[in-house]
Amino acid sequence: MRVGAMAVKFEREDYQFLTELGLAPENLGCYGGGVWRANGPTVTTINPSDNEPIATVREASLEDYEDSMKACADARRMWMLTPAPKRGEIVRQIGDGLRAKLPLLGKLVSLEMGKILPEGIGEVQEFIDMCDYAVGLSRQLSGSIIPSERPNHAMMEVWNPLGIVGVITAFNFPCAVLGWNACIALVCGNCVVWKGAPTTPLLTLATTRIIAEVFERNKLPGGIFTCACGGAEIGSAIAHDARIPLVSFTGSTKVGMLVQSIVHARHGKVLLELSGNNAIIVMDDAVLPLAIRAVLFAAVGTAGQRCTTCRRLIVHEKVYDDMLEGLLKAYKQVKVGNSVEGDTLCGPLHSKLSMSGFTEGIKKIKAQGGNILTGGSTINRAGNFVEPTLVEISHDAEVVREELFGPVLYVFKIKSLEEAIEMNNSVPQGLSSSIFTRNPETIFTWIGPTGSDCGIVNVNIPTNGAEIGGAFGGEKATGGGREAGSDSWKQYMHRATCTINYGKDLPLAQGINFGG
Ligand code: NAD
Repeated sequence: MRVGAMAVKFEREDYQFLTELGLAPENLGCYGGGVWRANGPTVTTINPSDNEPIATVREASLEDYEDSMKACADARRMWMLTPAPKRGEIVRQIGDGLRAKLPLLGKLVSLEMGKILPEGIGEVQEFIDMCDYAVGLSRQLSGSIIPSERPNHAMMEVWNPLGIVGVITAFNFPCAVLGWNACIALVCGNCVVWKGAPTTPLLTLATTRIIAEVFERNKLPGGIFTCACGGAEIGSAIAHDARIPLVSFTGSTKVGMLVQSIVHARHGKVLLELSGNNAIIVMDDAVLPLAIRAVLFAAVGTAGQRCTTCRRLIVHEKVYDDMLEGLLKAYKQVKVGNSVEGDTLCGPLHSKLSMSGFTEGIKKIKAQGGNILTGGSTINRAGNFVEPTLVEISHDAEVVREELFGPVLYVFKIKSLEEAIEMNNSVPQGLSSSIFTRNPETIFTWIGPTGSDCGIVNVNIPTNGAEIGGAFGGEKATGGGREAGSDSWKQYMHRATCTINYGKDLPLAQGINFGG
């Protein structure tokens, strides 16, 4: 296999494991047509736990992107014509490749993104699970036969590949989101072009290396899977590229809307997974210890940098004081620290930019009348550490409508289920939501027509931690896309409604003499 890494030895002993992922202190950031190359700017990837450099990556230039896309377009037809179960076998081998590197790749997720080690390993496991799911799916991409109203006619729906799927991903799930998209896109017969986040390029390269090795071992064209490290310029090239019928975008609502307008202008399709602003409702009959554990996990896990992080806690007045007391006790025990260290529960924020987002957010909270119950400050250490924060504030405050991407939880008091649902639904975003109750009437109201307006509607579990078997995604400003399980695969294919006349007459033309 041609390697994209240049020098070999890392200065820091604790980074030596990266060599086993094919990484080096200096790396080439574009894999296209089976060749590693890169002629764009060089970026340094930073360890969020100490703000020291890990390695450098030379990003793709627009010429690298274009050369890679030519190889991708050449590979397209061959991959579309490969039988789906054979494509599934390739994805199975990718899963095996990931399994072999699970602890190392998981550690890299933790090191470069900043989430704690079990979450890093869990993220790679999710990709592996997606591979398994997609292998089964490769034998089930079935259409349907529909009764025709015309005599001697058959009508059916046939699903065919789109050709090429562009995948643009966010920093907070630098590996799994590619997995959600690529596993399904590949078994559906599409080539994949991936641009990861500019601040997690090592993850992009290490993951690509595992995937590329499978295509090379099977002597398949390298153009079936392309990665191009870069920022807005490469992302924008993907959005504008008419060779790419579907762009799956995961990131902020602001950038997602921009990408959508560009792709729609060229009549392409988008699959959007955008910002969340998720709530947990705790009713007066909830099992409080369960609710407290779930809220802590949902609000502080991944240092509040999940799209499904709980940002709003809506508590019935009868249990409000007890809930808050339990939560404050739990918050005080959370160990904030280096992401790869064993006993850390809350790692750093991803970058200095995230730190200023937190500081600005806290300023706004205070200016808009928020009362900080615990936390609210940055921690004076070399890494991007902040205190897990609980805030009492009016639900009408403007800041509550925004996604503050850190461990900041707003708490509100309500008197009834109706009030709680209205509050849950009152923000622009619509990703995840959960209610804690033991009352069946409450549960079925919550999941019914007048309940939560989100894409994920849970009961007695946190807002995060979705299983891959279900369709994942959200409504409103979250973009409306669905990824992973259920029938999400349909978005990666083109549906043809085919009507076949197997008789000798055309019923519509009866009564006309064509002279034949
Ligand atoms: P972001 O929007 O800043 O960046 C996302 C991606 O878009 C990156 O790869 C970035 O380089 C690229 N990009 C930037 N400008 C672009 C442009 N003009 N054209 C094309 N691409 C461009 O988001 P982020 O800060 O990396 O991630 C955090 C956000 O992602 C949060 O809002 C979070 O809720 C969201 N997110 C959503 C989901 C979901 O499934 N709904 C999952 C993960 C993250």
